[in-house]
Amino acid sequence: MGGKALPQAEYDARWVARVRARSEALPSGCIVWTGFKAHNGYGVTIYRGRHAIVHRKMYEIVHRVTLDRWIYVCHKCDTPACWNDEHVFLGTPAENQEDMQRKKRGKYQRATHCKHGHEFTPENTSVTRTGFRQCRTCARIKCRLANGWPRELAESLPPTPKGQRPVNIPIPKKEGRPRIVSRSNLGANEIRALLEKARISQCAAARQIGISERSMRRYVAGEFQMPQQAANALLAVCSQST
Ligand SMILES: [Zn+2]
Ligand SMILES: [Zn+2]
Repeated sequence: MGGKALPQAEYDARWVARVRARSEALPSGCIVWTGFKAHNGYGVTIYRGRHAIVHRKMYEIVHRVTLDRWIYVCHKCDTPACWNDEHVFLGTPAENQEDMQRKKRGKYQRATHCKHGHEFTPENTSVTRTGFRQCRTCARIKCRLANGWPRELAESLPPTPKGQRPVNIPIPKKEGRPRIVSRSNLGANEIRALLEKARISQCAAARQIGISERSMRRYVAGEFQMPQQAANALLAVCSQST
């Protein structure tokens, strides 16, 4: 295939036909995607080379709109993989959450305590940006542990003002991964010459040396210098095939 990209309308028509062929009509009226599903039950497929949520993309196509990422396509039928246009409606995350609450569908909605046994009182509950309840006590303990507090203190001490820590706890040294990557002296032209000589495509070489095709494109375009490790692997691959 390849060649010119299909015009939008034609691509959409083919995409809809492809989704229809992999879906099943239920007695309830739901039209359910039978292909791959995400952990939340939403149908997932490819649209123009990217992952797309089936019922969401279908909504965009049917209504000829582009949805902002904070607009949800909610289900009246509570069937996440259903893409029947009559079963979906637009909502914000808060509305979606409210809708779930009304239907008492939320997995954690009935819980009165967090999984570590702290009660969801108004003072101990915060709401995340996506509308889920969060136990403030657990969040505080997690934060303290990440900052080097001993577990007993992290769990027992009441909330302290922001940034304040008991004097006896030393501030841990941050151990990130080293920021410095040693760069090779393999330039864009050298990489291109190597690949040409070994008759390997950029993509194939990227796969063989374990880097992404995107990174490879950038090294070949001279946007970045190739890291030493990748360069060594590339030299090895190229010398093998010549
Ligand atoms: Zn449905
Ligand atoms: Zn908790």
